[in-house]
Amino acid sequence: PATLATSAPERTDAYWMPFTANRQFKAEPRLLASAEGMYYRSVDGREILDGTAGLWCCNAGHARPQIVAAIQRQAATLDFAPSFQMGHPLPFVLAERLAALAPAPLQHVFYTNSGSESVDTALKIALAYHRVRGEGQRTRLIGREKGYHGVGFGGISVGGLANNRKFFGALLPGVDHLPHTLDLRRNAFSRGLPKHGAELADELERLVALHDASTIAAVIVEPIAGSAGVILPPEGYLQRLREICTKHGILLIFDEVITGFGRVGDCFAAQRFGVVPDMITTAKGLSNGAAPMGAVFVSQAIHEAFMNGPEGAIELFHGYTYSGHPLACAAALATLDVYAEENLFAAAHELGDYWEERIHALQGLPNVIDIRNYGLVGAVELAARPDAPGSRGYEVFKRAFHEQNLMVRCTGDTIALSPPLILNREHIDRIFDRLGATIRATA
Ligand code: PMP
Repeated sequence: PATLATSAPERTDAYWMPFTANRQFKAEPRLLASAEGMYYRSVDGREILDGTAGLWCCNAGHARPQIVAAIQRQAATLDFAPSFQMGHPLPFVLAERLAALAPAPLQHVFYTNSGSESVDTALKIALAYHRVRGEGQRTRLIGREKGYHGVGFGGISVGGLANNRKFFGALLPGVDHLPHTLDLRRNAFSRGLPKHGAELADELERLVALHDASTIAAVIVEPIAGSAGVILPPEGYLQRLREICTKHGILLIFDEVITGFGRVGDCFAAQRFGVVPDMITTAKGLSNGAAPMGAVFVSQAIHEAFMNGPEGAIELFHGYTYSGHPLACAAALATLDVYAEENLFAAAHELGDYWEERIHALQGLPNVIDIRNYGLVGAVELAARPDAPGSRGYEVFKRAFHEQNLMVRCTGDTIALSPPLILNREHIDRIFDRLGATIRATA
């Protein structure tokens, strides 16, 4: 049946692929037919080692029977329920489970269908929060250079990747960007968090002085920026941002769409780094990628501010038809079971040192100008070709897939890795043996 297509399609014109060089792709497609555990199978029958958990999603690996069964059962029991002024039990049950995993003050959950929607939801909650408290003049938002917060208009406005912004008009007004923290001059080949750069957080004080704190609603950052090529927070940097936000009544939002659900050794990077934001945006690992779902975790203080209005009034004019979708909730509940039963959030602690050792052994290979790692996240940055920036990264990505049966990500000339948390040492060996061979072959 068409829904179980495992061979290459005859026609490829009608599908406009996202974030893809469509014409190039269609000449040389990379199509996946099935997946199980640590491996994909391509339509030409090759077994591809998944070094990226899909797109940072499948933290428990692929086709986990418990998750499959939960989705199947749910589809046959309750396929859909209206999400406004109606409901069904699963999102309530799931929210309790999620709240128990989150940092203590973040006890409320608003559901979305993606990371982009989670970001726009969090920004809207921040603006509305100040307004319901009588501080409606706090409308300014602060993001960061090289930040990625999805593709909604809010997300690209606070985001800092030029290509994602420049085609799309004037974007949101009143947005500033902190400097990014990538500094190869001082921090190249750091193991774990870079030592230098905590002072970059003080740029926030400069923006506060410029605009006055009373106009600023929120700061949003990724604790570890993924899409820009894995940029790690310098030691002390996030703590400093937290202090400045608290001092000035500015909300701090961590976008944990990629770091959430065990990537760095706790459920959230907030916990691993010991910094508690006012909101956390999530998606991806929440449902192991098996159903589209996102969630915004909101502090009790923020939530309470909305619950003081007139009885019977709608507290927040925001939400999605598919918020708390039954299939997504079922997938997420089963996913949380797998994470707990297999203690997968500990994987980054158990394997992090070996991961670090193996990735840093790539130092010295041709064109490698930096290696970054934290938890089960890794990045190898290659020198950009002056004539064609990005092409070296893309070449490695392509050759890894076609010649080495290894899935990696490339963003520009950085190769990013974020494997399923079910991996073992042999998988780590295979990932870095194959990536090393590809980098050598590409040179
Ligand atoms: N925020 C971050 C930090 C992300 O990495 C991503 C996706 N990679 C998003 C938001 C957007 O998520 P989605 O593609 O599900 O909209």
